[in-house]
Amino acid sequence: MNKKTIKDVAVKGKKCLVRVDFNVPMADGVITDLNRINGAIPTIKYLVDQGAKVILCSHMGRPKGEFNMKYTLRPVAEKLEEMLGQKVIFATDVIGPDAKAKVAACGEGEIVLLENLRFHKEEEKNDEAFCKALAAFCDVYVNDAFGTAHRAHASTAGIAQYGFVKDAVAGFLIGRELDVMGGALENPARPFVAILGGAKVSDKIGVINNLLEKVDTLIIGGAMAYTFNAAKGIKTGNSLCEIDKVELAKQLIAKAAAKKVNLLLPVDTVVADEFDADANSMVVEGDIPDGWQGLDIGPKTCKIFADAVLSAKTVIWNGPMGVFEMEKFAVGTKAVAKALADSQAVTIIGGGDSAAAVKQLGYADNMTHISTGGGASLEFLEGLELPGVACLNDKA
Ligand code: AMP
Repeated sequence: MNKKTIKDVAVKGKKCLVRVDFNVPMADGVITDLNRINGAIPTIKYLVDQGAKVILCSHMGRPKGEFNMKYTLRPVAEKLEEMLGQKVIFATDVIGPDAKAKVAACGEGEIVLLENLRFHKEEEKNDEAFCKALAAFCDVYVNDAFGTAHRAHASTAGIAQYGFVKDAVAGFLIGRELDVMGGALENPARPFVAILGGAKVSDKIGVINNLLEKVDTLIIGGAMAYTFNAAKGIKTGNSLCEIDKVELAKQLIAKAAAKKVNLLLPVDTVVADEFDADANSMVVEGDIPDGWQGLDIGPKTCKIFADAVLSAKTVIWNGPMGVFEMEKFAVGTKAVAKALADSQAVTIIGGGDSAAAVKQLGYADNMTHISTGGGASLEFLEGLELPGVACLNDKA
């Protein structure tokens, strides 16, 4: 990575404002998944150990720019305190008097967590005055929120972009995300296989285009595959298929051929007579009959995709192979997850649904890397520069 990290700057005695991703799922005031908090801990511990004054900030949910008790970060402060075994001082506002007083009083090795950034509409608007107010809380700005690195918000980009802080560096989490994913894209062990799934081709055009420049094999599953199969003249019945993207799919198929990329599409499909967990279903090869819709890849496709994964040295996966939320149509997604878990390759899961599936199936420990950002990892795979990374200082 060509950006400075917290290891490249002196932090002892300095106020370090760390943008973390504490956008955790909550149910009845209780945090239901600690992954994001866990992800931020190495950076926090390092700064504490180095004697920095650690000021944490994050968003949670979509409070629409105003205070809303439902989205307070107070439970996160309590949980973090328990996880670190160290006091976490909670500021009840973001740039108001409580935050100012607590930041001013923060000692070396102490931690303050500011209230939810999105209680200010200025955060998402990347408002200059708001950036300046946040910058007043730091000598060093640290971005460790990969999940929001694709957004140009005040705390993720503006604070450094407007030049309010001299030292703007990456935390360990962002550093690892960029190293692992960047390494795979720029210098992969080959064969390099990418698997894309999910609902729409239109959401992933940029990713497909960029990956076709890099991979040896591109696997396409999920509803996306029907648009490609339609481009090959295969009937798609009632399946989700983007008719207006069929031409584009033809171009992408041609690009794959020109680049000598092995493009794998489903050869068989689990079809259902309605979009329902208890629908009647059957496996078809080739054309999908009228009145039926494809909801998962079939057994032959599972084997072809799994074999491709097992012969790869680098695998990147983003997007489910079918409607995995319904048990009956989760078989393809599970087969791909298992192949990745069994493989000896560098395995990278690009956040979102595939990350959830891998964790739910108990394969998380078998993967090289599970990205903490669905949208951010997609933009990264698309070859775009993320604003939350672009704003950080380059290595000399
Ligand atoms: P995305 O957000 O684009 O990654 O899409 C994820 C969604 O795609 C999941 O909610 C899946 O249920 C859905 N999906 C995957 N395969 C199919 C399919 N064959 N038909 C309808 N939806 C699908």
